[in-house]
Amino acid sequence: MKEEFLSRLAEIVGADYVSDRPEELYLYSRDPGAQKPRRADGVVMPGTVDEVQQIVRLANREKIAITPMGAGLTLSALTVPLKGGIVLDMKRLDRIIEVNQASRYAVIEAGVTQAALRAYLEKHHPGLQHSTPESPPTATIVGNILIHGHGHLTPRYGVNSQMVNGMEVVLPTGELCRLGSCSVSPKWFSRDPLPDLMGLFLGWLGTTGIVTKLSIQLFPKPAFRDLLLFSSDSVELIPEIIAELSQINLLENCFIITQEKPRWAQHIFYIIVVSGQSKEEFETKKELHNRIFQKYPDKILPVTEEPALTPLRERFLGVPPFAATAADFRKGGGFEYTGAILPIEVIPQAWRSGIEIAHKYDLLYQLGIQLLPNGHSVMLAYSYPFNRAVAEEAGRARGALDETNRLTLELGGIVWKPELPAQKLILEKMDANTRQLMDRIKKTLDPNDIMNPGNWEVT
Ligand SMILES: Cc1cc2nc3c(=O)[nH]c(=O)nc-3n(C[C@H](O)[C@H](O)[C@H](O)COP(=O)(O)OP(=O)(O)OC[C@H]3O[C@@H](n4cnc5c(N)ncnc54)[C@H](O)[C@@H]3O)c2cc1C
Repeated sequence: MKEEFLSRLAEIVGADYVSDRPEELYLYSRDPGAQKPRRADGVVMPGTVDEVQQIVRLANREKIAITPMGAGLTLSALTVPLKGGIVLDMKRLDRIIEVNQASRYAVIEAGVTQAALRAYLEKHHPGLQHSTPESPPTATIVGNILIHGHGHLTPRYGVNSQMVNGMEVVLPTGELCRLGSCSVSPKWFSRDPLPDLMGLFLGWLGTTGIVTKLSIQLFPKPAFRDLLLFSSDSVELIPEIIAELSQINLLENCFIITQEKPRWAQHIFYIIVVSGQSKEEFETKKELHNRIFQKYPDKILPVTEEPALTPLRERFLGVPPFAATAADFRKGGGFEYTGAILPIEVIPQAWRSGIEIAHKYDLLYQLGIQLLPNGHSVMLAYSYPFNRAVAEEAGRARGALDETNRLTLELGGIVWKPELPAQKLILEKMDANTRQLMDRIKKTLDPNDIMNPGNWEVT
């Protein structure tokens, strides 16, 4: 990268917040997942929205690629530049600007982390919460929403990107734009009834603009909360149970999991999170959910004993639950999961094939379903642990991920937060006119192709 470009960046953000030192570029050139490192040429950390705009205008003039980054924790290397250029690390934009108690939303800057909003709400608005993903606490709320992430309130209230009331965005040409009610009113309270422009940025993996502020919906925090745990060995039954759960539609969250190690975990476990504001509401919900599972005495049993009881309660009762049990922590070990967004009816085949793929690549399997809103679909996470110190093992993990992504598409599903090879598979399968529409939108918004180029690239 040209010295002159870096000194211009330093004039904008200050010399402490721009770097091309190899030890820093080492970190920005990889992520914790299985994809191979790629080279970032520089990193810059703006502290204000005005600085973001100045950086974008400069990059446009010089035709330098910009990769926006929150915490870089998707595991799919979405913040590792595909075509070099600078990583725009948003962590310094970390203000919680407003919490509206009555209309229940928070306006935050792009660098605000899951842990920061959670701690702030606990201290200042203890009756409110946001939908929290299982990702590490340093993950940003904006990064999660921009990939259509899921949180602990998703089955009840929606995918996290559905909880956005409004956004402030720096367009790839440098203009600042507000979307949602905040484009008309000082209140960031609603996404409707204007044309929904949020879709120009959600799911685009940072290729269409830089989100600088966002309004996220908050929800009441229940007074009572507990888990109901059941185990089964019938994969075929999963769609029927999901239909039953959706019929009453009263749960807070639901996971359906299995994993190869330890041995006791090789069953199918249903983890039902039930919550309520009053004891009566809570007890009634528990009773209604228990009744569903009691209908299948030959196929489903309540989990009442060790060794499963304590680990499952400890893992899933917290907010967020602890997901990373599949990680291989030997020598900086790695783990990546691919999320398949699936229609309900293909779950049994997807489940069985996932176990076969793990075994084919000599990896341990861990499968986890999270119910998506109202049980209309699920996210089936296939996690593959590997030892980063062994290149051959990381290669096997990449092979398993690729085969799983192909399976997902064959079954009519969609790969969530797709790494580059999976993006290509999706684009290959996509309707040609839809691909062209994506291309036209991208070219209109980003004429110099500077925003996270290479991702969602229609060739
Ligand atoms: C152990 C583990 C468990 C996980 N569990 C979950 C889970 O339960 N639910 C879930 O949804 N995810 C989960 N994830 C995936 C991921 O960590 C989260 O979705 C996370 O919140 C992503 O946030 P981030 O700050 O790391 O985003 P990043 O990786 O930094 O960014 C994500 C994408 O958005 C773009 N981007 C980031 N910030 C901006 C911006 N300001 N403007 C424009 N584009 C931007 C980036 O270029 C990238 O394409 C998990 C990950 C791990 C490691």
